[in-house]
Amino acid sequence: MSFLKSAISGLRSSFPKGRALFCLVASIGILWCNAQPCQETNQWKYQDYTQKPLFANKVFTKGFGVYIQWQGTKKQIATRTGGIRDAILQGFQVALTNWGVSLLMNKDHLDPSIQKYIDDYSFKQGNNRLYNAPMVFTVDCPEDANFVILVYFQKGKKFPDDKNVLAESQIKGRTILLNLHDHQAMYEQRLFDIRDSAGNLNIVPILAHELGHSFGLVHTTGHASIMAASLDLIARFPTQQDGLDLAKVLLTAIEGTAPGYFSPTDCAGLKEKDSIQKAAKRQANAKTDR
Ligand SMILES: [Zn+2]
Repeated sequence: MSFLKSAISGLRSSFPKGRALFCLVASIGILWCNAQPCQETNQWKYQDYTQKPLFANKVFTKGFGVYIQWQGTKKQIATRTGGIRDAILQGFQVALTNWGVSLLMNKDHLDPSIQKYIDDYSFKQGNNRLYNAPMVFTVDCPEDANFVILVYFQKGKKFPDDKNVLAESQIKGRTILLNLHDHQAMYEQRLFDIRDSAGNLNIVPILAHELGHSFGLVHTTGHASIMAASLDLIARFPTQQDGLDLAKVLLTAIEGTAPGYFSPTDCAGLKEKDSIQKAAKRQANAKTDR
């Protein structure tokens, strides 16, 4: 039962006290129940998108509702949320698009159901086929989210277990812990660099990696794979092999762990490759030399 206990304490620490009560359902699944149900201002518009899984694993849906939880006090949060919220949402949308493109690259080798999905979610422009990813949007209630993103920022709560990782998530889970407490991040759609000259890490490959875990992918040792345990400068997009791996898990029937649930014992964090850290240090030294 210690597994269950840690799951419950994880949930409790993740959401503000008094916001939600949690309950056990048949001691198998864990849901949170609100004394006063959270009112989603826009949910009626999106229900159709969020609740229709596109594949057997039920994670890949027509729309990704994201609930962002800031780990810190209100005063600290006020100075941080605006720009970072947009960066996370845009990064998530691009990460999702990049995964879809990795399927598109493999289209001829995929199961007919995935080929049909690609046809439905892409369009022809000249000689190219362009992928149009399901939309990403924020929701006001964690219960309605497909993903919960817990953001640890510089002056906020310390990242759990004091690990120097960039992010953490569970395989088949839908909660992503983003470590902006120990790392600075930026959003760069074009992905020329993993890290900019100011030392900010590009949030897109980090979110793509964690999204890969949510779909059910494990760490790989493949060359330039986005699912490598350490983020590499060359791992900017999911590779063709990453796309083939994704296609397999999308056809595997899993529910995925409920959003907001997180067990740190079940996951491995994403690290920065040594060579990137060294390059960043060289850059920092060069600056102070000037
Ligand atoms: Zn990982």
